[in-house]
Amino acid sequence: MNLLLVEDDEMLAEAVRAGLEQNGWRVDWVADAGAARTILVDHPYDAVLLDLGLPGGSGLGVLSNLRARYDATPVLIITARDKLTDRIGGLDAGADDYIVKPFQLDELFARLRAVIRRSQGRVSPVLTFNGIKLDPAQRRVTHRDESVALSVHEYRTLMLLMERQGRVVTREQLEEGIYGSSGTIESNTIAVYIHQLRRKLGEETIVTVHGFGYRMGGNGA
Ligand code: CA
Repeated sequence: MNLLLVEDDEMLAEAVRAGLEQNGWRVDWVADAGAARTILVDHPYDAVLLDLGLPGGSGLGVLSNLRARYDATPVLIITARDKLTDRIGGLDAGADDYIVKPFQLDELFARLRAVIRRSQGRVSPVLTFNGIKLDPAQRRVTHRDESVALSVHEYRTLMLLMERQGRVVTREQLEEGIYGSSGTIESNTIAVYIHQLRRKLGEETIVTVHGFGYRMGGNGA
């Protein structure tokens, strides 16, 4: 199991990391909001343990950013005992559960197991289009039953298009969906992902709607 720990309190982070690693987890640790956003764009985790008070932005922002990209990775937020509004805000922003500081490692393990179990039981429908199947629960794509290897960004681009089959998705919507609202990217980056997807899945799979964006399926050009 891979976990991202986002926590700026070094002593707490070290203790949590040591405890998790002793129990067989692999842990990446970042200490500020910017680093958390960046690493979450490129790395899939089984769970995120997220402190809310962080340098460089709030944990809530990190969480909103993740959910805005339809990323359903289970998130457990760490809150202070007296911050009830943080807890409510965190759950509203899409956290799966929270744990109150100071906490025992046993409680942390129990809560992590629970949020991961629940997320695995979540029904996420498999998306299909012309022989392409995208399974969000497994992050797996097949084309005519052959497995297709996609980068994280190609995968997100494809998912956004498949979720909106028959409709035009603008470049801005794709950028927002892939990078969240904080992203600043090269203007041709989306075109590169589209090019790669066409190469891997067939040229006709994605239609360019000039001046607007891209579309899978539907009539006309
Ligand atoms: Ca903190």
